Amino acid sequence: MRIILLGPPGCGKGTQGDLIEKKYGFPKISTGDLLREAVQKGTPLGKKAEAFMNQGKLVSDGIVIAVIRERITDGDCREGYVLDGFPRNIPQAQALEEMDSKSPEIVIDIQLDEQGLVDRLAARRICSRCGAIYNLLVKEPEKPGICDECGGQLIQREDDKPAVIKERLRVYHEKTEKLIDYYQNKKVYNRIDGSGEIERVLQRVSAVLESELTKFREDEARR
Ligand code: AMP
Repeated sequence: MRIILLGPPGCGKGTQGDLIEKKYGFPKISTGDLLREAVQKGTPLGKKAEAFMNQGKLVSDGIVIAVIRERITDGDCREGYVLDGFPRNIPQAQALEEMDSKSPEIVIDIQLDEQGLVDRLAARRICSRCGAIYNLLVKEPEKPGICDECGGQLIQREDDKPAVIKERLRVYHEKTEKLIDYYQNKKVYNRIDGSGEIERVLQRVSAVLESELTKFREDEARR
């Protein structure tokens, strides 16, 4: 089972991906997290990706496709996985289908109005140690500036600063939004409202997921 979380930056894909992982056991794979880890470690891949990320541009397809290709072959992905931030354009979507053609696919597009996205991105903080996501508006840490999970320092991502936010939204409209039509045509597309409390959004995500999972299981039983 391949669950693809689609939607603009700031819609809550990362947070909902973590919650799906906890609730259903499908590991969350975030290309953004994997790239940030590579940047932090100073690997050759991180060095190639860093400038693009800091400017809010997409990293080259070759790099992100290779990262995903390697990660989905890990044993924990055998039953399925949740993708957060991949694919971000049509060539990536096509590459994904080629590399894992057998997995049934569910796309959940989390939508939020533009002002909501900008407000959420500007208020986002992440743990510099474990990557846990916080938000000064809707999910504050217990102690200001400190991660509840591991005690690490909370920081603002370079690309969550106002000038870069604007560019990331532009790139989303130019490249990623085309995936809506693409997945609608494949009849795997579901849209949910990303506004409101995290738990409320999770209920909407879970309703789609459970209905789709039931359909797949019934299809499998019939075969
Ligand atoms: P995210 O954490 O998903 O917002 O991603 C942060 C940044 O990582 C993006 O602005 C891109 O520079 C890069 N990135 C993440 N995923 C992809 C992808 N699928 N294709 C290209 N660049 C990506």
